[in-house]
Amino acid sequence: MKVGVVGAGWAGLSAAFRLDRAGHKVTVFDATRTPGGRARRLHSTRLDADIDNGQHILSGAYSETLSLIDELGLDRASVLFDQPLTLLSADGRFGLQAAALPAPLHLASAVMTARGLSWRDKWRLVRTMQRLHARQWTIDTGLTVLEWLKAEHQSDHIIRYFWRPVCLAALNTPIDLAGAQLLATVLRDSLGATTRASHLLIPRVDLSQLWPEHLPSSIAIHHGLAVRHVASTATHVDMCDERFDAVVIAASAPSTARLLRCLPQSAAGSQLLARIAAFEYRPIATLTLKTEHPWGLPHAMLMLDDTPERLHFGQWLFDRSVFSLDSSQPPMLCVVASDARELTKHKREDVAAAIIEQVTEQTVRFAPMPTITAYELVIEKHATFAALPDMQRPGNATPWSRIWIAGDWTDTGYPAVLEGAVRSGRSAAELIMQKHP
Ligand SMILES: Cc1cc2nc3c(=O)[nH]c(=O)nc-3n(C[C@H](O)[C@H](O)[C@H](O)COP(=O)(O)OP(=O)(O)OC[C@H]3O[C@@H](n4cnc5c(N)ncnc54)[C@H](O)[C@@H]3O)c2cc1C
Repeated sequence: MKVGVVGAGWAGLSAAFRLDRAGHKVTVFDATRTPGGRARRLHSTRLDADIDNGQHILSGAYSETLSLIDELGLDRASVLFDQPLTLLSADGRFGLQAAALPAPLHLASAVMTARGLSWRDKWRLVRTMQRLHARQWTIDTGLTVLEWLKAEHQSDHIIRYFWRPVCLAALNTPIDLAGAQLLATVLRDSLGATTRASHLLIPRVDLSQLWPEHLPSSIAIHHGLAVRHVASTATHVDMCDERFDAVVIAASAPSTARLLRCLPQSAAGSQLLARIAAFEYRPIATLTLKTEHPWGLPHAMLMLDDTPERLHFGQWLFDRSVFSLDSSQPPMLCVVASDARELTKHKREDVAAAIIEQVTEQTVRFAPMPTITAYELVIEKHATFAALPDMQRPGNATPWSRIWIAGDWTDTGYPAVLEGAVRSGRSAAELIMQKHP
């Protein structure tokens, strides 16, 4: 089969890889010049350095992504900095670190030795996790995370220092809006699984180098080519002056809708388009700070306490010198702000200055932050869809028999994350191969 793929993000490339391995001829088209989609390398002229479109972390639960990395012959340890689950606040007020023990002892010890939580909070956290486990990680799909936590009698203190940051990092949606079931799924596969699954994996190389640039050369990739039109019949799909047996549209939800609107419409098609139109999006901002010399913090990542009234929007601080292997890049720190809607209302220079002040204030227990020589603020306005309760996410099949869709926004069971994107690509590829063996 000749298969066309729209989008060289992690979903499109995952589909391309599976189809190529099965012996099909695959051509990928992407509007940008670098593979990886939202998880790709950018060049910053302000920093005179290559950075990512946003600091990302993976987890040991990203089984499909990790097996893709293995199948491409890449050495995991060279591309990913692997650390046991560690949530430490920069100011030292809160700390939770999993021990190198078999599950669930790794978590039990993490909770028992956690800093900044009362015994009552610890006990309730353990009970909540036990109840989730007993209910096979299912929660009423209509509940928000906050409603669920209140029903579980979690205190305001543990919500602020544990649940809120975890929810924002995993779902990019605030706890009063985020769907509890999506968080439960993340917890099931990370904290509720093996010790390795709970590990945090931080890319040591840029996101395009991590694996998207290592696909077999048998996959043709056309960069800088935005697909504007697709025409589909019962026997083939025409796109970019080529004829394909099948096409996977692995673009963002709005771009996918634009392409699907080119096709003959039906009631089923309108229903799919209505589902896509219902998605809401949330921004993520990443402030990268170039420093005079490496800071050498004792931890790769630390939690920051955000106070938006002071423009202290930072939620996580990454010291790239702890994990980056790319010696051609200058020393850099990254500060991440999820659900960054409020941040986008302020001037970039004000935000950058306030976040630098925030990091300085909250890291006084460490060696002083080195002098900052330049900064870059990347705001991805449509970073992820808002992970709301009761979402109706479409599967990979469409009413057009030769068109499939993939992407983190399709029905992966996960929030908008890399692993969901990779799984959706694989699933679209498998469905095509089942239908057209
Ligand atoms: C700042 C930021 C931080 C994040 N942090 C994390 C994290 O820490 N951990 C995590 O797991 N996930 C994180 N995510 C989410 C993760 O990046 C996404 O889930 C994932 O990259 C989505 O991949 P995708 O292939 O579904 O879509 P995309 O990456 O959006 O890929 C779609 C591709 O389609 C192309 N395209 C669109 N329209 C067309 C067209 N008409 N013609 C040709 N090409 C087209 C685009 O150029 C793009 O390359 C983060 C996202 C952002 C933005």
